[in-house]
Amino acid sequence: MVDSVTKRGKSYYVCQECGFAYETRELAQKCEEWCTKHHSCSLEITKHAVNISQ
Ligand SMILES: [Zn+2]
Repeated sequence: MVDSVTKRGKSYYVCQECGFAYETRELAQKCEEWCTKHHSCSLEITKHAVNISQ
């Protein structure tokens, strides 16, 4: 289940499998589906990830 977090007033959606964050729930969902299935990340998807750790 995709997680949503708010950082600096913006909402992001986090893939629970790999921990990458996205600006849209669709992307996070896609990522999570991929990660769960393949146990690795898809570059096509993770290139849209945003770094929210800082
Ligand atoms: Zn993922």
